[in-house]
Amino acid sequence: MTRPLVLCSNDDGVHSPYLEMLAARIEAFADVLVVAPERQRSAASHAITLHKPLRLTEVAPRRFSLSGTPVDCVYLGMLKLCDRPPAVVVSGVNDGSNLGSDVFYSGTVAAAVEGALRGAAGIACSLQPRATDPTRAIAFAASVVLAALGEPLPRGTVLNVNMPAAGSAGYQWTKLGRRNYAQDIHEREDPRGRPYYWVGGGPAGHDDIPGTDCVAIANGHNSITPMHLDLTDHGCVAAPPWAIAGFSLVGGVE
Ligand code: MN
Repeated sequence: MTRPLVLCSNDDGVHSPYLEMLAARIEAFADVLVVAPERQRSAASHAITLHKPLRLTEVAPRRFSLSGTPVDCVYLGMLKLCDRPPAVVVSGVNDGSNLGSDVFYSGTVAAAVEGALRGAAGIACSLQPRATDPTRAIAFAASVVLAALGEPLPRGTVLNVNMPAAGSAGYQWTKLGRRNYAQDIHEREDPRGRPYYWVGGGPAGHDDIPGTDCVAIANGHNSITPMHLDLTDHGCVAAPPWAIAGFSLVGGVE
């Protein structure tokens, strides 16, 4: 019997130790192909490279680096390198949490979303910074992949998995929480006297909403947040908030 195929990627770059640790664990029960960015591409979100060529390098057997974004890696991996459709596209393990609204910025999550858009089960895995027990966290991530291979996820569902720094034997199914960020922009001056800026202030705590990913990680549990690719606000379509003056409403939505 042929083993299932799992495509692994990340946004920390092909040389991230957590990527290889996860890939090696998954190889115990599935064929693995790694396609990951050649360098650090965190917070690349769902960007793809349209205006320059992409270079692919085989860094080890079944391990490839690409001069593009995380989503480029999944796109090219699935269409060019996989000899059959991967059952799971797993992204990570990321060095750093992806909680709440982080999912909109995260290249880790975007790579998993790209896998789901192309028909695989998409799983994003992230580990709290300054991890003291990455081995336990990576074992949990691999176990989630194994579960998804046994029982396929509903189409369009992406799992956003987070692990606490110390590892945990427990896990929770969670909702996306609300993470707060330092809202500051650092302005500096270059040697010619012109200003330049640093954006992307670090996290500054989270809202204490029970059942959320932020709270699960704060309490030291693994967290699995199922997300759906259908972003439509169906309630708003059924009951629109207002009419647009000067224009007539046509038909309805089937
Ligand atoms: Mn990252």
